[in-house]
Amino acid sequence: MFLQLDWKIIIQSTLDTTMSGNPAVVMRLVASAYAVAEKAGAIIRRVLHSGELGIVEKTGANDLQTLADRLVQQSICASLSKSFPKITIIGEEDLPEEAVKEDLIESSQSEEILQKSCPLEYSALKEEELVVWVDPLDGTKEYTEGLLDHVTVLIGIAYGGKAIAGVINQPFFNYQLGTETADMGRTLWGMPGLGAFGFELQEVPDGRRIVTTTRSHSNKLVTDTVDAMEPHDVIRVGGAGNKIVQLVEGKASAYVFASLGTKKWDTCAPEAILHAVGGKLTDMHGSALRYDANVKHMNSAGVLATLRNHQYYTSKVPQSVLQALKP
Ligand code: AMP
Ligand code: MG
Ligand code: MG
Repeated sequence: MFLQLDWKIIIQSTLDTTMSGNPAVVMRLVASAYAVAEKAGAIIRRVLHSGELGIVEKTGANDLQTLADRLVQQSICASLSKSFPKITIIGEEDLPEEAVKEDLIESSQSEEILQKSCPLEYSALKEEELVVWVDPLDGTKEYTEGLLDHVTVLIGIAYGGKAIAGVINQPFFNYQLGTETADMGRTLWGMPGLGAFGFELQEVPDGRRIVTTTRSHSNKLVTDTVDAMEPHDVIRVGGAGNKIVQLVEGKASAYVFASLGTKKWDTCAPEAILHAVGGKLTDMHGSALRYDANVKHMNSAGVLATLRNHQYYTSKVPQSVLQALKP
């Protein structure tokens, strides 16, 4: 009797074995980014508890850097470049070249991410084709003011100018529940074509427009645009990462920032996660942002992000704002 073989099953299982035995470079990078983002969260909590924030003004009182921003950037950049020497990493903070302490290096990877199948279109990407945008601490001003739930760590991965994966750590998620650090913090991640994980997708009830925007970098362009959206409610909070989390958890329907001010490291990871759940992040003209290694860092034409109904919000942006905000 001839043995009946199901080739489809054999080929699929061979593929799966190959994938799990030797995951795609980008999946290994996301798995490392996840682990180092969790370490980053721990560093941010530790610096806060030490009471010595080491605050430095960069361009002014609304543009700060703390010891946590510096240590976390060192930790993320040194850890990722040790494991992936050929990737391009662009971090927010300008830091002197110096040896990074061994205890800041994270070499582990998220097993759960390594087990996922890489979307086919990214499975053959090489290290040297990937650009990593790092915001070691998004919401620094709020961190220094004790608005801890506004703080995130953002690691975005780009290929061909597009955000293809993102990791967001919230170091103080659940901090109101008590002083124990055991359950504090969480990490969200996502990849368009694969999905988003670490949270439960929720939407604002149909027909309600809740706009989330800056609390510390507002100006007339920002407020005019928010008003033009005819929102039922406006939430003013810190952090680009924080505002995207509000979108995917049903707290806000649009993130509107009609001003220059955010940079590519603020938007890359959030955009990847938002796109993974069918949302959209563009400038105020509705044009895509680009994340190539040589791109200008400033998002000069603002940020407009939504989970649904992007078209409604782009159509409401005042002409005067569009004229003022050129890409
Ligand atoms: P916000 O919503 O004001 O917390 O801003 C989101 C991100 O963009 C944070 O990383 C801010 O530091 C940055 N950002 C926005 N506006 C400005 C500005 N005028 N100067 C410096 N950074 C800004
Ligand atoms: Mg930031
Ligand atoms: Mg920052």
